[in-house]
Amino acid sequence: MGLFDFFKKKPAAPKVVVEVLYPQTWENSEAPVEPTVLAAEVLQPTPGEAVEIQVPSHIAAEDVAPVAEVVETVETETETETAVTSETNLDEGLTKTRKTWSERWNAFMANFRSVDEDFFEELEETLIGADVGAQTALQLTDELRNEVKLQNAKSKADISRVIIDKLVEHYRSQGVNEDASMHFAPEGPTVILFVGVNGVGKTTTIGKMSARYKAEGKQVVLAAADTFRAGATQQLQAWGERNGIPVVAGAANADPASVVYDGVKTAIETNADILFVDTAGRLQNNVNLMQELAKMKRIITRELPNEPQEVLLALDATTGQNALQQARLFKDSTDVTGIVLTKLDGTAKGGIILPIRNELHLPVKWVGLGEQVGDLQPFDADDFAKSLFGSLLIGDDK
Ligand code: GDP
Repeated sequence: MGLFDFFKKKPAAPKVVVEVLYPQTWENSEAPVEPTVLAAEVLQPTPGEAVEIQVPSHIAAEDVAPVAEVVETVETETETETAVTSETNLDEGLTKTRKTWSERWNAFMANFRSVDEDFFEELEETLIGADVGAQTALQLTDELRNEVKLQNAKSKADISRVIIDKLVEHYRSQGVNEDASMHFAPEGPTVILFVGVNGVGKTTTIGKMSARYKAEGKQVVLAAADTFRAGATQQLQAWGERNGIPVVAGAANADPASVVYDGVKTAIETNADILFVDTAGRLQNNVNLMQELAKMKRIITRELPNEPQEVLLALDATTGQNALQQARLFKDSTDVTGIVLTKLDGTAKGGIILPIRNELHLPVKWVGLGEQVGDLQPFDADDFAKSLFGSLLIGDDK
């Protein structure tokens, strides 16, 4: 797919009527469809039931077939409201980052005289300023030296295009072994452990994510194992109450391990699909952190040998390079399976997503775009690149 095709409007996201085959096939399906996405539209499906669902824009109608029989395609719109809404959210969330990118970019290109060493040095500085990380900025600049020569780009417009093209390619590209999907146990509770320093948005993300999975028909339990931060338990309980989700909690300053244990027991006894575990962001040093996380994992694994499926590290995008530092520390301390990058809505530092994926090789799985329950989205590299650079390429400066 060429770059301009990529920036063209998304193709139709058709509405289809599906006949539900066996709901349990969603759990085990190896189809490219995320079962949870479909389940969002059909909360309590009965085999044989015909239901109308809106196929999410990134899923082709034919991909629905392995999990449910497509009876009829109701309509095909050029661009559905659903697609616009979800993209608008990401677009809105990235407003500050995009604005800073275009300002820096325009200032850089306004200085353009010719392609010489000064030009590439300035480019590298511009990229570092845009939070792509020093290592990535160096790599990108090196690649661009070759690319500019290769394409014999000389005019301002050509140079600009080659560079943005390369940036888009990097933001879209999948890292080595990058697996941005969420993993679920084929049976029994899936445990999702949240880690990260204080204030990055762990509790809030659990609130949002658990509500999302509950709406998709999953039975969810929360364990308030952040017994260190004052108010963390109450905060999680408030999310639980709001969304009708049970919360397992201990007394103030209780041993977090005991809360984890109770949480696991409750999840097993109540046949829950997912247990979310909130943890404290205490971070005196690497050894402490490692020991505490290892202890929690041991408790979980004793009861559920294949859990936790996910150890999600929450990082606050507004902290920029600091977030990278935290990611390094946690990566060294435990097996982080993915990143939730929070507060993208409040920052111009959204570029940080590139070094997290490129330099640390950690997949970003979710992005936080606000404080409300709906302000959490699975990370989609294509949408992200499109939102960030689309206006630079097509000259529509948002
Ligand atoms: P924790 O200590 O890691 O559990 O962090 P909290 O969940 O308590 O979040 C700290 C603050 O960040 C709270 O005021 C949240 O409302 C806020 N927050 C969390 N995620 C987001 C987000 O995606 N966007 C914005 N704007 N605020 C967020």
